[in-house]
Amino acid sequence: MGKIFLNHLGGARVFSCASCETPLTNKTELISTRFTGATGRAFLFNRVVNLNYSDVQDRVMLTGRHMVRDVSCKNCDVKLGWIYEFATEDAQKYKEGRVILERALVTETDSFEDKILTPSFSNLSSSVAASAEIVNLS
Ligand SMILES: [Zn+2]
Repeated sequence: MGKIFLNHLGGARVFSCASCETPLTNKTELISTRFTGATGRAFLFNRVVNLNYSDVQDRVMLTGRHMVRDVSCKNCDVKLGWIYEFATEDAQKYKEGRVILERALVTETDSFEDKILTPSFSNLSSSVAASAEIVNLS
């Protein structure tokens, strides 16, 4: 086996593998939280990195017939959800190329890196703007 290269999308809220904490995606890639997986609640994401993909499978779901691949963590190989390759019904086409991660199999955390990069003067400028408004009112 070769070296495993891991990516990081960054972002304020990061979703990671619950088993090994490999970063997978972030809140800006989140499309919907209203999906159901094998373990319960599941999230639909626009883009997820650090995944391994199974062969394409033909699967009939609540929303119709889909061609999907199971996805697992690139680092520890735990199954995390699936990716939609092809949807047979037009109403479901938006899911093509999108990834489902099961809520129970990922952890959601604040990115430490982003906290450092957040400029502290952003609060200051908003309070200046607020006091300017008060001046205008009086
Ligand atoms: Zn993992």
